[in-house]
Amino acid sequence: MRKIDKACDKAPDKVIRIYLSCIIMTTVLILLASGCKEHHIPSSTKASWQWPAMGTVASLTVYGGEADTALMLAKAAVEEVNTQLSAFDPASDVGKINAAAGTGAYIALRPQTRQVLDASILYYRESGGAFNPLVGPLMEAWGFSRGGEKSVVGVPSADTREAAQRLCDFSRLDRSADGGVRLLDPGMKLDFGAIAKGYAVDLAFEHLLGAGYTNVLMNLGGNMRAIGVPSPVRKGWRIAVRDPRKALTDQPLGTVLLVDGCAIATSGNYEQYFEWEGKRYSHIMDPRIGYPVGGVLQVTIIAPTAMMADALSTTCFVLGVEEGLKYLARYPQCEALFVLDDAKKGVLIKMSVGFRDMFERGKVESDEQ
Ligand code: AMP
Ligand code: MG
Repeated sequence: MRKIDKACDKAPDKVIRIYLSCIIMTTVLILLASGCKEHHIPSSTKASWQWPAMGTVASLTVYGGEADTALMLAKAAVEEVNTQLSAFDPASDVGKINAAAGTGAYIALRPQTRQVLDASILYYRESGGAFNPLVGPLMEAWGFSRGGEKSVVGVPSADTREAAQRLCDFSRLDRSADGGVRLLDPGMKLDFGAIAKGYAVDLAFEHLLGAGYTNVLMNLGGNMRAIGVPSPVRKGWRIAVRDPRKALTDQPLGTVLLVDGCAIATSGNYEQYFEWEGKRYSHIMDPRIGYPVGGVLQVTIIAPTAMMADALSTTCFVLGVEEGLKYLARYPQCEALFVLDDAKKGVLIKMSVGFRDMFERGKVESDEQ
């Protein structure tokens, strides 16, 4: 009995020795594999991709989880939105509505088109028409089309501008009791270019969140939304705010920290524009006057959803800094940065108080790939 006890007494020592030698061996192997340097071991591996989508570039950064599945989910979400909302696809809901303008036929909407239209109607009303998804005819009159090919040279005539502006009349969009939509006048055109990319990012966000991803940054042409953080020791994703006077890869104006669930969007006068007689005309229209917006170089909005950030960045671009900041009082969860080209004072940067708190000037590294 005693013998057995003794044997039992010794067993834990042996087990401890085996564990210790295992730990030492594993440590030696790790050190060998890392070249014996001091190494920060990330909590999970990073995967990132870029691909062309919706006339711009999409990118996805994922830490942890099945990386290829994340990419597949994000791509599918963007594709789904594009096939419903693209004004350039005759088979999309928007393509069909535009083709049927003036014929009297109602077009049935798929759920996502309905959601984006409902939101757009709200933004149109709230902004007094500064945000107007019926801006299509004005875009055409000024020669803007996807890819930046210019079909019109210079400033269109007053007649052309006024005719196009008349076609942006929201009271001429009609909805049937069962949710169909028609545009009453030939030549009217829906254009969700100011809101659809944000919506696509939100859809990708929902899909990725639903699939259990915990650390993701999605970007679609400057419309971004974050899940989690890029590292356990960080509070958010550091996002560069571009300097509109410089190239994308140059020193940005600064960075902001995008926290879990939040979105950021930027509208800039450099996305599409033409220069005529020394003046730049950009692709963001003031539908209230039928002219491209002047005096604003860039607007960045932080918001709870990417669709809201997208719509509000375009809206504030049109409204300008004074009206824009007043308008944003309706959205206490949103913050804004404006870059203005003042005729007298030159380039000015104006921020809402909350944006200033989040903004770090001139910092270069961003978590975006
Ligand atoms: P964003 O880059 O999000 O500011 O969107 C700009 C795009 O939105 C343009 O290329 C047009 O397709 C469309 N757009 C231009 N002006 C307006 C406007 N005032 N309201 C709504 N959409 C607009
Ligand atoms: Mg927008």
